[in-house]
Amino acid sequence: MAIFIVLLGPPGVGKGTQAKILAQAKNLAHISSGDLFRENIKNQTELGKHAKLFIDKGELVPDDVTIDMIRERLSRPDCKPGAILDGFPRTPVQADALEKMLAEFNGQVNVVPYITAPESIVVGRISGRWTCRSNGHIFHQMFNPPKADGICDIDGSELYQREDDKVETVTIRIRVYLEQTIPLVDYYRKTGKLVEINGAQAVEQVSRDLCLAVNN
Ligand code: ADP
Ligand code: ADP
Repeated sequence: MAIFIVLLGPPGVGKGTQAKILAQAKNLAHISSGDLFRENIKNQTELGKHAKLFIDKGELVPDDVTIDMIRERLSRPDCKPGAILDGFPRTPVQADALEKMLAEFNGQVNVVPYITAPESIVVGRISGRWTCRSNGHIFHQMFNPPKADGICDIDGSELYQREDDKVETVTIRIRVYLEQTIPLVDYYRKTGKLVEINGAQAVEQVSRDLCLAVNN
């Protein structure tokens, strides 16, 4: 039976960092909606051009476009054993769509780790984030610095600061999260699948808690 894990939590709490670690540990695909959009923007696809209009403003990309992108990704063979979803769903409409999609693939959402941390911590994490241009590997200038400034340890490509990580846009993204994504906490709590994780701890401790949560 395939296993699908949905990581929930505010921008910058560490979803991407943890998703990469967990994907490796459990040998599951890592699906990051943000990475997929950024890849489309880099390749100047029609989807990328459309999504950029929203991403640059800190707003959500419309549900229909986002859902189609994720459906296509989930249909690829590497998702057969399951996947870790990072950044999707972000609205109740997306969560309903995910349920229907997974039913098509004979699966369901198994567990929803909800990673939380105070706003001051997530803002500090976002402001020091450096992202790898080629593969979205994640670094932090203080908490996880690359060995050489501006270069990804893993693939040697350039590290850059995301345009939407600047302070003005971060404030909007946090507001959008509170308005549009927080309803998913109750949505998944009602299903009994939500597990709260203290994201304010060091990366290794969060990973340990997350591992326990998904193995139970
Ligand atoms: P973060 O990791 O900081 O939470 P992401 O990389 O997940 O940010 O997302 C960056 C941007 O991409 C979002 O601000 C939004 O504009 C867009 N985006 C990502 N996932 C979704 C989604 N599921 N629905 C709508 N927009 C999305
Ligand atoms: P999200 O995907 O939720 O937006 P990221 O995984 O991209 O979050 O993490 C945001 C920033 O915080 C990155 O620079 C990352 O290196 C750093 N980070 C992630 N988890 C931790 C942690 N537990 N402690 C300190 N810094 C962290």
